[in-house]
Amino acid sequence: MNDVDVIVVGGGPVGLASAIEARLAGLTVAVVEPREGVIDKACGEGLMPGAVPLLARLGVDPEGMPLRGVSYNTPRRRADHLFMTGVGRGVRRTALHSALSARAEALGVERVVARVGSVEQDADGVVAAGIRGSWLFGADGLHSTVRRLAGLERGAPRSRRRFGLTRHFAVEPWSDLVEIHWAPRAEVYVTPLAPDLVGVSLLGAPRTDFDETIEGIPALARLIGLSSATGLKGAGPFRQRASAPSRGRVLLVGDASGYVDAITGEGLRLGFDQARLAVGHARGELEYDREWRRATRDFRVLTSRLVLAATSPARPAIVPLARMLPGLYGSVVEKLAR
Ligand SMILES: Cc1cc2nc3c(=O)[nH]c(=O)nc-3n(C[C@H](O)[C@H](O)[C@H](O)COP(=O)(O)OP(=O)(O)OC[C@H]3O[C@@H](n4cnc5c(N)ncnc54)[C@H](O)[C@@H]3O)c2cc1C
Repeated sequence: MNDVDVIVVGGGPVGLASAIEARLAGLTVAVVEPREGVIDKACGEGLMPGAVPLLARLGVDPEGMPLRGVSYNTPRRRADHLFMTGVGRGVRRTALHSALSARAEALGVERVVARVGSVEQDADGVVAAGIRGSWLFGADGLHSTVRRLAGLERGAPRSRRRFGLTRHFAVEPWSDLVEIHWAPRAEVYVTPLAPDLVGVSLLGAPRTDFDETIEGIPALARLIGLSSATGLKGAGPFRQRASAPSRGRVLLVGDASGYVDAITGEGLRLGFDQARLAVGHARGELEYDREWRRATRDFRVLTSRLVLAATSPARPAIVPLARMLPGLYGSVVEKLAR
C-alpha cells in the first residue's frame, strides 16, 4: 500500500504546479523540499503569454506587471515584437512562489522538509524521503538528483557553457516590453516586476562581470549608482540533458527534465505544461515521453539554434537581422511565447 499517489521532489514553481495539478485531479500528493519559507532564485521572471493561462487553470494568479512583447536592443538598433497571442506577466519569483504555495496548501498538499538522496522503485511504487508513492515527479531543478538516481543523466557538452545572474533595482519600470540588451558577450534582460521594481538578468559565459556589463550598455545608464534591491543570485550552467523524460514510475518535470538556455525566457511555461502532462500520464490518459517531446520540440530546436548563433562570430548580426526580417523574428517569438 502506498502512502500517497504522487511524491514531488522539489518545491520550486514546477514542483508546486505539479502538486496542484495532481490534487485537482483527485490524487494525494507530498512535496519534498529542503528549503522552508519563500524560495527565491536567479530568473528573468518573465511569464510568457502561454504561462499565464496555465497558471490560471491551476487557480493561481500572482501579482505582477503586464508584458506586451519583447524588444531586442543594441546601442544603434532596436527590434520590437508585440505578442499576438496574449499578454505575459513579469512576476517576482517570491510572489510566484507565495501564490503557488498558498494554493497547494489550500488544496491539502502535504509538505515534507527534506533533501532527497535516494530513490528506489519497484513495479508498484517509488520510495523517497521515507515516503512510498505510486509515482515520483522529479522537479528538483537544473542539477537534478532524481535525474541522476533514476539513471537518466546524459552529460551536457562542456563547450559554450552559459550561466545566469539576476539582481533587482528599486526603480519605476520604463517599458512594458521585456528589454533584451545585446552586449558584445552577454545578453541583459530587463523585466518590469512591480510599479517600483525591475529585474535585471545577465546571461553569458562563466565569469562575466554583472556591473561591468551593465556599465557598457548606454541604455542602462539609469541603473548606475542605484543601490540594488536584492543581492546578486546566479544559476547554471544552463545546458542539462536527460536520456529520457521518465523511467518507470519516475517522471522528470521542469528544468530537471533537461534545459537548453534562458535566452528565450521559456522555462516556466514549459515546466507548467510538463506538470499537466505528468499528471495525465499518472492518470493513464497519455504517454509522458511522447507528449514531453512534442511539447518541448520548439524550445529545444529554436533555443539551441539561437544559442549557437549567439556564441558564434554571427552574434553581432542577430539584432540587425531581427530588424530586417520582422516576419521571421515575430514567428519565432510567437512559437516560443504561446
Ligand atoms: C538567469 C535566468 C533567467 C531566466 N529567465 C526566465 C524567464 O524570464 N522566464 C522563464 O519562464 N524562465 C526563466 N528562467 C528559467 C526558470 O528560472 C526555470 O526554468 C524554472 O525555475 C524551473 O523551475 P523548476 O521548479 O523546474 O526548478 P527550480 O526553480 O530550480 O526548483 C527546484 C527545487 O528543487 C529543490 N531541490 C533540489 N534538489 C533537491 C533534492 N535533492 N531534494 C528535494 N528538493 C530538491 C530546490 O531546493 C528547488 O526549490 C531563467 C533562468 C535563469 C537562471
